[in-house]
Amino acid sequence: SDPARFIDIQKVTKRFGSVTAVDAVDLQIARGEFFSLLGASGCGKTTLLRMLAGFESPTEGEILIDGQPMAAVAAHRRPTNMVFQSYAIFPHLNVGQNIAYGLRKERLPKLELKKRVDEALEMIKLSGYASRRADQLSGGQRQRVALARALIRRPKVLLLDEPLGALDKKLREEMQLELRQLQESLGITFVFVTHDQEEALTMSDRIAVMSAGNVLQVDDPHSLYERPSCAQVAAFIGSMNFLKGKVRGRENGHAVVEAEGLGTIRAEAVAGEFGEGAPILLAIRPEKLAITDSAERAPLDNYVGAIEGKIAAASYLGDRSHYYVTLPGVQRPLAVAAQNVDRETEGWLQSGAPVWLSWQPKG
Ligand code: ADP
Ligand code: MG
Repeated sequence: SDPARFIDIQKVTKRFGSVTAVDAVDLQIARGEFFSLLGASGCGKTTLLRMLAGFESPTEGEILIDGQPMAAVAAHRRPTNMVFQSYAIFPHLNVGQNIAYGLRKERLPKLELKKRVDEALEMIKLSGYASRRADQLSGGQRQRVALARALIRRPKVLLLDEPLGALDKKLREEMQLELRQLQESLGITFVFVTHDQEEALTMSDRIAVMSAGNVLQVDDPHSLYERPSCAQVAAFIGSMNFLKGKVRGRENGHAVVEAEGLGTIRAEAVAGEFGEGAPILLAIRPEKLAITDSAERAPLDNYVGAIEGKIAAASYLGDRSHYYVTLPGVQRPLAVAAQNVDRETEGWLQSGAPVWLSWQPKG
C-alpha cells in the first residue's frame, strides 16, 4: 500500500444520538510517522482513536490500514494496539506478568514468552524489574509498563490516548522525550492524542488540530506555528495577539492592511481572501514584538514600527518576561514575550511606564 496513506481515514463520521463526535474527517497518516491529534476536551480525539482501534465503528465513511478496509476487522485482529491515560495495569501482578498479559491470547511457549517480555522490559528501560510488584512502581514506571504491554504484541500502529496526562510536568517532559526516542527506534506508527499543544509540538512529525469533530489543519509543528490556516488554530497553538483591520491593497506578495492602533502596515497574507476593503485579523506572536524605552532605540534589523504604548502589567518568568502593553485605540493589551531582559532594562519595564513596540513582520 501507499506508505503516505498507511492509515487512511476517509470521510469518517461518528454520531452518538444527536451528538456528532467526529464530522466527516479525512486524514492520511504515513507509515512510521509520529502523528498527533490535538484539540480541546470534547473535540472528538478519543472517538477517532477508538474507531482506529476498532472499539467503535464509524457511522459513515471508511478506515483503511495498510491498504486493508477495517470495517469487518475486529479490534483484536487489527494491526493496532492502544495505551490509555489511566495506567490500566494490575496492581496484584508483577511487572513481567503485567507485560505478558498483552500476549495472553497468543499461547506462546514459556521460553519465547520470557524472551518477548525481556525485550519489552529493555525497550522501556526497566530491565531487571520483571518480578517487581506493579503497586511498588512510580507513576512514570507504571505508564512505561502499560506501554510495554501494548508494544509486546508488536503492533504496526500504536494508539496513545493522552498517555502522559496523569503525570506531573517534569516527569511528563522526560516521558515525552523517551516516547519520541522509542518511536524512532522502533519505527512504528504512533497516533498520539493530547490536548496539550506544547506536547504535540515537541513530539510530532505532524499534527491534526481538531475542533468540534472537525480537523482544522494538518501540518508539521513549524508550519502550524508560522502559518496557521485560521484564527482558531493561531489562537490554539502558542499564544497570539489579534488586531482587527482592513485590507488596503497588495504589495510584493504582502497585504497592505490598516490595523487598529498600528495604522497602515505590510503583513504576510497567510489564510483567506485579501480583496480591497476585506476585514482581516492581524496576528502577531508575543515573541515577535520588541519593547524599548524610546523610539530611537527600537531594533532596526528585521523590525518595523515603533509605536508608543504603556505597560499594563509585567511578569517575570526567569527564562523570559511577559509584558502587556496598551496601545491607543486598541482594546486588549498586546502580549510581549522578551528573553534575556537585563536588570537595567527591567527597571523601566514597570506598570505604567511608556514604551515603544516594534515588530518582526516575518521570519
Ligand atoms: P475528546 O477525546 O477530544 O475529549 P471525545 O471523543 O471523548 O472527545 O468526545 C467527543 C464528543 O462525543 C463529546 O461531545 C462526547 O460527549 C461525545 N461522546 C463520546 N463518546 C460518547 C458515547 N459513548 N456516547 C455519547 N456521547 C459520546
Ligand atoms: Mg479523550
